Amino acid sequence: MYDIIVIGAGTAGLTASIYARRASKSVLVIEAESYGGQIISTPHIQNYPVAPDISGFEFAEKIYNQSTELGTEFVFEKAVGIEIDGNCKTVKTESNSYSAKAVIIATGSENRKLGLENENYLIGRGVSYCATCDGAFYRKKTVAVIGGGNTAVEDALYLSDIAETVYLIHRRDSFRADQSETDKLKEKSNVKLLLNSNVTKLLSDKKLTGIEVTDTSGQTSSISVDGLFVAIGRIPENSSFSSVIQLDSSGYAVAGENCRTSADGIFVAGDNRTKEVRQLVTATADGAVSATEAVKYINSLN
Ligand code: NAP
Repeated sequence: MYDIIVIGAGTAGLTASIYARRASKSVLVIEAESYGGQIISTPHIQNYPVAPDISGFEFAEKIYNQSTELGTEFVFEKAVGIEIDGNCKTVKTESNSYSAKAVIIATGSENRKLGLENENYLIGRGVSYCATCDGAFYRKKTVAVIGGGNTAVEDALYLSDIAETVYLIHRRDSFRADQSETDKLKEKSNVKLLLNSNVTKLLSDKKLTGIEVTDTSGQTSSISVDGLFVAIGRIPENSSFSSVIQLDSSGYAVAGENCRTSADGIFVAGDNRTKEVRQLVTATADGAVSATEAVKYINSLN
């Protein structure tokens, strides 16, 4: 039986593991994919104190190394549920079960999809959710990015140095992204803005050949593109835990700044909890708070 199981090895989960190990608790981190989480696909992090420009990959690697050096154990399996039996919480994965006195759910979020016909089929055939992963395939080609947040604007800026033309399509006339980032778009002559518009159809012939764009007046046009980068936000990954903790109507785990969920001994940290600001600094803050609360909870059992 571990003291603490952390589900998710993103920024929040890894930070939680560091705090829990420093409190001398035994810690198992269960991660479905590879460590790092969402930040791993960000080429430049420029808003994290002390590190004015660091890649997401380097950032993730540094926290992971810090955690392993402190003695955190890791298994790479998908957690599919939690069972509570008194003070014992058992996390079920697709292949095993692991028990602990406290659990921190730090599963983050997954890409939101457009929900268009053939979208899934065209993933890897012109449709992508990660510009830094797939951008290099579109050298000197025409691509489109859809979205109006930091991810979409950063993706458009990143792709403008690779592709010949980048369409940035957003459903409103103002961006949600930081002003400092949207200002940079003005310097990019190969980025064309299509505002008040949505992608309404994916055109394909085995692979993506173009997109249908419909503006808010209902006018439709077709644009030939080689690639479409979808950056329309993310969905919290809490569905496996909905039977044990309370979720809000959007699927976020209901918790305040103390990261306590509706279930005793189960905590939530990072982008998958209800909160106003979802940033790296708030993810690390949640990691620290959730681990501190979990340690307090465990000590109260003795
Ligand atoms: P986001 O901020 O939630 O923005 C999603 C964008 O997609 C919004 O502009 C939204 O439009 C649009 N959208 C949502 N659903 C749509 C749909 N079905 N069809 C068309 N458009 C749709 O998501 P994000 O950009 O991925 O950022 C997530 C969080 O990570 C944010 O807090 C962001 O600041 C942070 N982040 C930070 C950095 C950084 O600091 N370097 C980098 C990336 C992300 P509306 O605006 O109309 O709602």
